[in-house]
Amino acid sequence: MTLAPPTGAAFDGFPRWSEPVEPYAAFPKVTLHDHLDGSLRPETLIELAGVHGVELPYDDPETLASWFTGEVSTPTISHWDEKFGLTTRVMQTEESIARVAREWVIEAAADGVIYGETRWAPEKHILGGLPLAVAVEAVAAGLAEGEAEVSAAGGHIRARQLLCGMRTSPLSFEIARLTASTYGKWGGSVAGFDIAGPEDGFPIRDHLDATTLLHREGIPYTIHTGEADGAHSVWETVHLAHALRLGHGTRVIEDVTLNGRPLSVRTAVKAVAAAREAGLAELVVGKTAQWVIDRRIPLEQCVTSNSKGGVVLGIENHPIDLLRELGFTLTINPDNRGMSKTSISREFRRIEGEFGWGVDEFTTAELAGVEATFLSRPERDALRTELLALIDDFSKVR
Ligand SMILES: [Zn+2]
Repeated sequence: MTLAPPTGAAFDGFPRWSEPVEPYAAFPKVTLHDHLDGSLRPETLIELAGVHGVELPYDDPETLASWFTGEVSTPTISHWDEKFGLTTRVMQTEESIARVAREWVIEAAADGVIYGETRWAPEKHILGGLPLAVAVEAVAAGLAEGEAEVSAAGGHIRARQLLCGMRTSPLSFEIARLTASTYGKWGGSVAGFDIAGPEDGFPIRDHLDATTLLHREGIPYTIHTGEADGAHSVWETVHLAHALRLGHGTRVIEDVTLNGRPLSVRTAVKAVAAAREAGLAELVVGKTAQWVIDRRIPLEQCVTSNSKGGVVLGIENHPIDLLRELGFTLTINPDNRGMSKTSISREFRRIEGEFGWGVDEFTTAELAGVEATFLSRPERDALRTELLALIDDFSKVR
């Protein structure tokens, strides 16, 4: 079995956001936290902006890509929302939505992804009058096209979509209903639901009608939490909304005390290192964090995104390795390949460089990812078998 990312007419060889020789490009992966509208190829955005009459700040792909990653202006999470506004404005027709979905699959496959869930907010794609369900069907069509193209090029990937309600919008219940009515259609394209958007000041308790509906219907959902807000936000997500996964969940670390004082996400790594250096580092896990550990609720970790978005200052200050040490169930994700200029292969390389993770740790994370997918039990069992066989091959040729 060949493990190199598929090549051929359908591929540029490697994902746009990755260097051509990422050491982990051929390591099989699962992607769970991966925004469709945060991953547009700059070339595609430029082309679609021309078609739809949308003005861009830059019209060459390189500069545009740098603007997205914040190399041109200060990166903050609220600023990113403007950028999402730009990408979603060019995704208002079935054709443009399907194209972006198709390309998302191809780039994911080139990054070594064998199963992926991409998330997007349907309510941001109806500015041109497109019915919500038609937009969902367009994503389903694009994902299926991408799968077929990867398959024709000798690769293999399965792609699903999660529909996002927004914390800032009153439509989350409507989107939950849309999830329920499309769940299982088009070959099971719609795999679940998410709530996204600014966290601080927009509590999840305002969206419990949406999560309760899906909980009762037996439809899985994740929720963005513990990114821009702290431990209490995670508590609401876990204990009021009963999310099956935590989108980021990074600030659950703030429910851990060091020598009696709560950790802060920004200083946790350095504080623990300093305390250990001084010979006194007593870590006590709080109730919410312990619940997340004990129930094995997966954290959708997005290390580069957290660093670029200001959750932590630099990847070296990300608590991912501390979370691993404390027993959390971790998965590795790109969040927004375009806006964070990353891929999962790149995340692997960065985590390896900062924290010394290797094949064993990445295997643990990918197995956790398989278990955390919104696939059925038999599908997860089959995916685990496929993943382990590919990791075995990866290790042999390495
Ligand atoms: Zn996200």
